[in-house]
Amino acid sequence: MSKKIITITGAAGNIAYSLIFRILSGNIFPQDNKIQINLLDITPVLPSLTGIKYEIEDCAFRNLDHVMITDDPELAFSESDYILMVGAKPRTKGMQRADLLLDNASIFKKQAEIINKAAKKTTKVIVVGNPANTNALILQHNAHNLPAENFSSLMKLDQNRAKSVLSDKLNQKVEDIKKLIVWGNHSATQYPDINHVLINNSRDLIHSLDSRWIEKKFIPRIQNRGAEIIEHRGKSSAASAASAIYDHLNILVNGSNDWESMGVIRKNSYDISSDIFFSFPLKVEQNKISVVDNVEISDLSYKYIKESEKELLTERNIIRDLLD
Ligand code: NDP
Repeated sequence: MSKKIITITGAAGNIAYSLIFRILSGNIFPQDNKIQINLLDITPVLPSLTGIKYEIEDCAFRNLDHVMITDDPELAFSESDYILMVGAKPRTKGMQRADLLLDNASIFKKQAEIINKAAKKTTKVIVVGNPANTNALILQHNAHNLPAENFSSLMKLDQNRAKSVLSDKLNQKVEDIKKLIVWGNHSATQYPDINHVLINNSRDLIHSLDSRWIEKKFIPRIQNRGAEIIEHRGKSSAASAASAIYDHLNILVNGSNDWESMGVIRKNSYDISSDIFFSFPLKVEQNKISVVDNVEISDLSYKYIKESEKELLTERNIIRDLLD
């Protein structure tokens, strides 16, 4: 019997409240593995973490080793197999994107330095807290004892959203949709690309789609889906974000037979900077993520992709003083 240690930051927040229970009730790890869950958050919310710990224990999960709650990042990160960086300061009214970037950047820099000192070299780090791609860049630069390949940022929610909207439009099963790529940043410049999608190994249904629907409805809907949910629900999409983090972790642990979307820092054939976290088409085998290079890209697609790269380079420029 072996044990996996999973640390979740921002553990008293909304996403974590779905994520923790999803991971412990799921089946990412073999049946005989036990999970130790480390819940990290800031000191004022420790009472809330105590309540969450009791709730987890009350579920009597068969695979739970134990729950540790703490406000000490060093304690939370050392020995972890996976660190899920969920905690981040939310944008408040009137706050500019650059202010949010800088506030979260300094939080992520401090946490990176602790990961660098305390974490195992094999620890995989998944970044969720926004701006996720640029926070991942700060972590990777400041935790250089870990290989760059160990860091990825969440784009799976965007890919899940795109598959779901497409499956609804074409009345097909979501699991039959393959090779859907989301390029770029986890922001409104992301580009959901259906030019290579196969449905039951065929492109016939994709060819039946009206190009105006793709450009005027599909792409903007995926780019702005988070805002659409806030508009209806009055709160952000925490449960679907948690579900996507579960999927992302599952893919890292078990691999995938589809093209996946994650923010990664990699050399690539697409003339995209290899010093930003960018979402490409990816093949993920156990412990190895590689870019699917040389996928054909239309001029229109390239325009969208370059727009997202431009945004990430601007974000990088804002936080450049925090990169080692
Ligand atoms: P959530 O748990 O709802 O969200 C956490 C982060 O995930 C936010 O940055 C959020 O971005 C991001 N996110 C990424 N994708 C999504 C998505 N699809 N839907 C919603 N969010 C997404 O935030 P809470 O405010 O409830 O909880 C944050 C926790 O972090 C708190 O417990 C707080 O104490 C902790 N925290 C810790 C800090 C530290 O360690 N120093 C500093 C600040 C907070 P977005 O804001 O854009 O929605």
